[in-house]
Amino acid sequence: MGKSFDIGLERLTGTGVPRIGETQDGGVKPPLHNAGRQEAGATLVASFEEKNRTLKGAGCGTHDSEGSTFYLETFGCQMNDHDSEKVAGLLLARGYRQVDGPEAAKVILYNTCSIREKAAQKVFSRLGELRPADEQDGKSFNTEDTEREHRVHRDGRVLEKNHPSQRKIVNAGGGKIIGVLGCVAQQEGEGIFERAPWVSLVCGSASYRKLPQLIAELEAGNRRVTGLDTDTDETFETEITRRDNPWRAYLTIIEGCDKACSYCVVPFTRGPERSRASASILEEVRRLAEAGYSEVQLLGQTVNSYADPSARKMRFSELLAVVAEVRGIRRVRFTTSHPRDFGKDIVEAIEAHPTICDHVHLPVQSGSTAVLRAMARTYSREEYLEKIGLMKAVRRPISITTDIIVGFPGETEKDFEETLTLLDEVQYDSVFAFKYSPRPNTPSLKMADAIPEEEKGRRLAILMDRQREIQRVRNERTVGETFEVLVDGKSRRENQWSGHTSSNRVLNFTSPEQELLGDYVQVKVVSAMPNSLVGEMVGRIGVNR
Ligand code: SAM
Ligand code: SF4
Repeated sequence: MGKSFDIGLERLTGTGVPRIGETQDGGVKPPLHNAGRQEAGATLVASFEEKNRTLKGAGCGTHDSEGSTFYLETFGCQMNDHDSEKVAGLLLARGYRQVDGPEAAKVILYNTCSIREKAAQKVFSRLGELRPADEQDGKSFNTEDTEREHRVHRDGRVLEKNHPSQRKIVNAGGGKIIGVLGCVAQQEGEGIFERAPWVSLVCGSASYRKLPQLIAELEAGNRRVTGLDTDTDETFETEITRRDNPWRAYLTIIEGCDKACSYCVVPFTRGPERSRASASILEEVRRLAEAGYSEVQLLGQTVNSYADPSARKMRFSELLAVVAEVRGIRRVRFTTSHPRDFGKDIVEAIEAHPTICDHVHLPVQSGSTAVLRAMARTYSREEYLEKIGLMKAVRRPISITTDIIVGFPGETEKDFEETLTLLDEVQYDSVFAFKYSPRPNTPSLKMADAIPEEEKGRRLAILMDRQREIQRVRNERTVGETFEVLVDGKSRRENQWSGHTSSNRVLNFTSPEQELLGDYVQVKVVSAMPNSLVGEMVGRIGVNR
């Protein structure tokens, strides 16, 4: 599947202290700075095709679009990555073939992210690249345009439209169908047709089930179709999911968000919270285990707000425990947890089930109660620290990571200092830090005392330095320890491998073995850096291919 490598790199290097091997939304990304990982790709694909075939055997739909091709590129968070896996599954089940680039595709889909301005801009410059020749009529469509619109957004004024009526609609030059999916689609709606008339499909995540039907309508001659309804209690379940990672399978257990953080677009773009029935989740985990997946990651914008809609009414901590008991599953992860719904029962489940990974991503956003209040985060610094205390009180060490926003409107130097002291107090294993980005429709857009970009940058740099030092010290303490690692990367350099520990640290290690991908091995740490560990293999636990 096409990936937005630029965005990935930005996430890992530009916007904060890279969390150990993760995206800013809590899930694991291939560490792009690690040359070995890309090389491992060929092996990954072979193994994963096997598993997808097995899953496909579980029964998939009709093949009514035999011969059509699609290209799908994903921007943003783990939820988007997994939505794309499901969208791809949906189209594959209907006979479409997935191709590697837009040139060869009949249907080009961008699954977009609008959490920060930069991510949304990226999508529009991508669309600009697809502009058909006869659309190049002197009306500029480029990143500058996008900049201008967003500046307008930032000031809270009404968006100026882009001369839509004069544009000739060609339904995506060369007979291609170009579609915008996800958060930008939901946020901008039909405005996308005005800014990029060669787009013919706009569909938000709450309407993905309708996608094949929408594409069929375009193929039947309709010029423009939309799926923008968020008023739904449906979750996006598919019979087949085209999974990108051969060992770690993602499962959305709750979609949307009912919280109302004052800076965040998610409640507008993903609609209200909808949880999936516990029996259906368990059934899928069993199928995944049978297909050879040993690690599952339960996903949700606020995964721990899970509310089982079935009569069973399973709590999130109970769900974790039953998933952890599924035969063949060796690791269970979950992300992202909201502090308000994070309780002792979750910590107890982690303590009781070694299969549940010893890692909790608990975004704090700020160390200042005043800023947290302005953000409408529903907890104070002290209440957040109580949740951290629950994790520190148990015997099993739990790795804690977080998200932080710097430069929220009205954030004083003293507020920022409190965020720095929170880092010292909690001792996170990794932090994703972002400069506050004003987003359309959000309450914080109209808040007074905006912090200048330069000052946001200064605060971000200070925070990153402070956290880097914390990580350096914490990682150095692991030298001499032995960790179980799921091997998921092979370097070009001889005998060099990499993988993830249960706590989600990246561990690069040496081993003379010929084939280790997908295995669980024991690795002893010999040296440490702020963002990864270096070790040597001391034992092999098992094969999971
Ligand atoms: N649901 C999760 C939670 O409550 O913490 C967060 C999901 S959000 C997709 C991922 C992260 O993006 C947030 O934790 C926050 O740090 C960051 N984020 C969201 N809106 C932002 C904004 N307007 N500006 C900067 N960062 C933002
Ligand atoms: Fe956004 Fe807040 Fe919902 Fe997280 S909890 S997705 S930050 S509104």
